[in-house]
Amino acid sequence: MKFKQMIEEASEANRSRIVLALDLKGGGLLERALKILRDVHEHVCCIKLNKHLVLPLGVRGIVELVFQAHDYHLPVIMDCKTSDIGSTNEVEVKAYFEAGFDAVTAMPLPGWTDGLEAVFKAARGEGKGVLLVTYMSHRGASELFEITVYNPELKVFEELYKVFSRKALSWGADGVVVGATRPNIIRSVKELVDEVPIFSPGAITQGGSVEEAIKAGASYVIVGRAICESSDPKAQAERVKALVKRS
Ligand code: C5P
Repeated sequence: MKFKQMIEEASEANRSRIVLALDLKGGGLLERALKILRDVHEHVCCIKLNKHLVLPLGVRGIVELVFQAHDYHLPVIMDCKTSDIGSTNEVEVKAYFEAGFDAVTAMPLPGWTDGLEAVFKAARGEGKGVLLVTYMSHRGASELFEITVYNPELKVFEELYKVFSRKALSWGADGVVVGATRPNIIRSVKELVDEVPIFSPGAITQGGSVEEAIKAGASYVIVGRAICESSDPKAQAERVKALVKRS
């Protein structure tokens, strides 16, 4: 099943727009991750992993986690923010797809030719998703994502994140990532990307609001530490899910 369909179905079934960023530190990583997944799976629509687990456990070491998420009918994103030349990108994302991941994230800067074309090609062949990061969630993101640049295709000056958003549309991305910390940017990206779903990290712990992000146009909100580091992840996931009703 394709990533887009998987996440829509999981979102509907669990009535949730919350993507769990399973970011853990310390020991017993796999066991703790599996326990959190078991506790919260009914309250989220997708799982996102990144270097927190993949570096210490290795790609092979997280296969059980991906398998378990699939058993709960949840898709899994590898937030690898791929950003190299095409041949390296291809090796990277194919390793994740082989491990069972349903989507990867990519940074737009390499461009298409000999850059991200390889990522989209590898994904397309297997019904996998590619999410393009168009504006990050942390404070320093404005230093570069918002600078004004010349867009030669449109012959206009505009902010860099707008160029990235247009690329997401023309490259056929399955989603864009825009920080929940800037609802005004979510609104602006939404106008440009139309039906492409917006995934919004940075809620709660980084100061963004789950409700505001959805109101501004996000389809999904990515939440990590606020759930994973809670003393009761299950109750917390239920609370976070209830912030944005999904009928
Ligand atoms: O713990 P917290 O909810 O802040 O986690 C947010 C997650 O989203 C982390 O996994 C982080 O790497 C990721 N992320 C982000 N901002 C982006 C892209 C991804 O915070 N622009």
